[in-house]
Amino acid sequence: MLIVQKYGGSSVASLGLMRRIVKRVLETLRNGHRVVVVVSAMGDETDALVDLARRANKNPSPRELDVLLSTGEQKSIALLAMLLQARGQPAISLVGGQAGIITDNQYGRALIRAIDTTRIRRELERGNVVVVAGFQGVTENNEITTLGRGGSDLTAVALSAALPADLCEIYTDVEGVYQADPAIVEGARKIDKISYDEMLELASSGAQVMQARSIEFAHRYNVRLHVRASHGLTQGTIITSEEKCMEQVIYRGIASQKEEAKFSVLNVPDVPGIAARIFGALADRGISVDLIIQSAARNGRNDITFTVSENDFQATREVLSQVAPSLGADGYTYDRDIAKISVVGAGMRNHPGVAATMFQALADQDINIELISTSETRISCVVREDRAEDAVRAIHEAFEAKGWSQPLPPPASA
Ligand code: ADP
Ligand code: ASP
Ligand code: MG
Repeated sequence: MLIVQKYGGSSVASLGLMRRIVKRVLETLRNGHRVVVVVSAMGDETDALVDLARRANKNPSPRELDVLLSTGEQKSIALLAMLLQARGQPAISLVGGQAGIITDNQYGRALIRAIDTTRIRRELERGNVVVVAGFQGVTENNEITTLGRGGSDLTAVALSAALPADLCEIYTDVEGVYQADPAIVEGARKIDKISYDEMLELASSGAQVMQARSIEFAHRYNVRLHVRASHGLTQGTIITSEEKCMEQVIYRGIASQKEEAKFSVLNVPDVPGIAARIFGALADRGISVDLIIQSAARNGRNDITFTVSENDFQATREVLSQVAPSLGADGYTYDRDIAKISVVGAGMRNHPGVAATMFQALADQDINIELISTSETRISCVVREDRAEDAVRAIHEAFEAKGWSQPLPPPASA
C-alpha cells in the first residue's frame, strides 16, 4: 500500500519526538508499504514566526509573510529526512513547490489548483521515503504561498487524493477526534467513526484537531482519514462518508471558537438593499461573515449585528468605517471578547428540544446568550469569551445526561 502519514507540530516538536516518528515510518516500511510523510513546523514555530514578522513590520506584506512562514515546515522536513538517513533509510525532503503543489495567489489562504505528483512518484520508485512540507505550495509564477493555519492537514489530504494513496493517517497529540476538546472537557469520549459532514461542522466551529478545509477536500475526493495519536498504537477516529448503517446521534460533539469578533452597525434605515451593501462590501474585501442578526425595526431603523474571524477584525473596521456613514447609520460598535459555542449532530435534524436543552444548560450557569444561529445539524450560540469553557462543559453534561450521544433507536415499525 501507499500510505500518507501526516505528523502535526506537537508530534515533531523536538529531535527526540521526530525519532519516534522515524521508528513508526520504518515499521510501516517493514510491513511492505511505501510512505509519503507530511510534516508541520516544529511545535509553535509558526506562531513564533508570525510574532517575529509583526515585530519587523506591524503590517507585513502577505507575500513576505508566506515566504517566512513556509520556512517552519522546511526546517522540519530536512531534519526528519536527515534522521531517516541516519538510520540508513533513503529519504528526501521536498518543499511544497518541489512536491508539485500548485496554488492560486491568495497569500495566507491559498487554494490548491493542481498537484503534479511526478516528482514524488519518481522519488518513491527510487526507494525513498518522501518527506513533504505541509501547509505550502507555489503559484504558477513560482511564488511561495501558504494554505491557512492548520494547513498541513490539507496537504496530506490533497496528496492522498492526487497520488492516490491507499490510506491517509493524521498523527497528532490526542488519540483521535473527541466529543469535545479533551483539554476542556475531561470526560469527553473518543469518537470511533464520524461522517465528513459532522466533522466539517465541528472543524469549522473551532475543533482544531482537523483543519476545516481539509475535511471539505477529503469529502470531495472521498479520502478516508484516520486521526490517531503519534504516541501510541491505539485505533483513532475514522472520518468517512455517512454510511446508511452509520448510527445517527443527536449529539456528536461540541466545539468553541474564541477567535471571533462581533460588530453592530447601529440605527440603519430599514429599507431594501442595506444588508446587500454592507455584506457586499465585506465580501469584496474577502471577509466571510459568520452569524448575522438583524434587530426588529423601531421608527424605521434597526441594528445589524454579525461576527467575523479575528483575523478579519482590522479589515472589517476599515470596511464599516467607509460603508456605515454612506448608509446613514449611526456608526458601528465592536466586541472582541466573545466566543461561539456549537453543538453538532446529524440526528438533530429530526429531533425537537435540542436548542431548548442547550439554552437551559447555559441559563443554569448564568451564561447570557448574545447571538444564535442554527443549521440542520448544528446549533451555535455566542457568549462572553471568559465563560466559553463553562459553557462547553455545561452543555456537554446536559446532553450526556439525556443520553443523546447514544445512537437513535430505529424508527418504530407500523
Ligand atoms: P497538530 O499539531 O497535530 O496538527 P492540533 O493542535 O492542530 O494538532 O490539534 C490537536 C489538538 O486539538 C488537541 O491537542 C486538542 O486539544 C484539540 N482539540 C480541539 N477539539 C478537539 C476534539 N474535538 N477532539 C480532539 N482534539 C481536539
Ligand atoms: N504550521 C502550520 C500552522 O501552525 C500548519 C500546520 O501545523 O498544520 O498552522
Ligand atoms: Mg493541526
